[in-house]
Parts: sequence; C-alpha cells; structure tokens
Amino acid sequence: MSPVTHFLVGWLTANSVTTLDRRSRATITLAGIFPDVDGFGQLIWLATGDWADYDKWYIGFHHKFGHNFLTGLLLMVLAWHMAKHAKLLTALLTGISFHLHLLCDILGSRGTDPLDLWPIFYLWPLSENPWQWAGQWPLLSWQNYAITLLCLATIIHLGRNRGYTFLEMVAPKTDLEVVQVFRKWFPGQS
Ligand SMILES: [Zn+2]
Repeated sequence: MSPVTHFLVGWLTANSVTTLDRRSRATITLAGIFPDVDGFGQLIWLATGDWADYDKWYIGFHHKFGHNFLTGLLLMVLAWHMAKHAKLLTALLTGISFHLHLLCDILGSRGTDPLDLWPIFYLWPLSENPWQWAGQWPLLSWQNYAITLLCLATIIHLGRNRGYTFLEMVAPKTDLEVVQVFRKWFPGQS
C-alpha cells in the first residue's frame, strides 16, 4: 500500500490503547511506515540516472531489507529502549504496527497487470523465498482508497474524542486547532 496509508494504519495501531504517551505513540506510528525505507534504491536510481538498472536499484532492495522478521525484531528492541513508560506494550504494538505494514503490502501492492504481484521476503536473509498472495489487489485500487478513507474517518473520530491526531508528532499547536475544527463539525459526538 502507499506510505500514506501505512502511516495512518500505524497511528491507529498506536492509538488502539489509551495508556501510551506521545513518545510511544510516535514510535509505533513510525514502525508502520519504516519498512519502506528499503525503497531508497529508487532515489539512487533517480540520482544516478542509471535508467537501465531500475531492477537493480529498486526492485532488488524494495520489500526485502525492510520487510523481514529481523527488521521487525530490531524495531521492537529499539522501541523497548526508547519508551519511557509501558515498555512492553510499546514494543508489542511496534511489532504489530510493523507486521500490519507487511500484511497491507501482501494484500494490496500489485501492479496494473494481474500477474504483476509484489512479494515480500519475510525470511530474508535466511531465505529468498517470496511471500505473496495470488489475490493481491492493485496499489491504485478502490480497496486501498476505501481503507485510507476509513482510517481518516477513524482518526477524525478519535481526534474529536481524545483531543489529538497524528499532527501531535510534528505540530502540537496546529493539532489542537485541527481538533477544535473536528469538534465544531461534530459537536454531538461522544
Ligand atoms: Zn512496504
């Protein structure tokens, strides 16, 4: 799925409980998007102008280095160390956020051709065995748009009720203003 959808799913995972502080919520949210750092090969490809080697610079890295169990474990250990409170819960939700990213990729990352399935390599570097699902839907599909819209609606609902959204990570003041707008739009919700 797109990084935007991964980010939203990660934030919702972080907010599936109400006991975590902002730091832990940010950690879990970022774990939901972190796997896609292995798309850096695309930047190298663009920077070098090595047009003939798209496979080498992008396909060869993407869904491999960031999309495997070792990366997930590493993120959980990092989350444990970085959390100031609720270390175990933060680490567990970080693992869930990471694996939801992988699940979303397996579900909806296909190209335009039905045979253009996009696998992940969960057991890399122990195994190069691709993990994929024959029913994978396209990256640009109504399913992905629907999931993204559902996430946004849920975030508006939670923002209205809890007083913050994902903007708390970068712009807390703006976040409060946004929450006020949500409360104006939906004054009767509880
Ligand atoms: Zn991904």
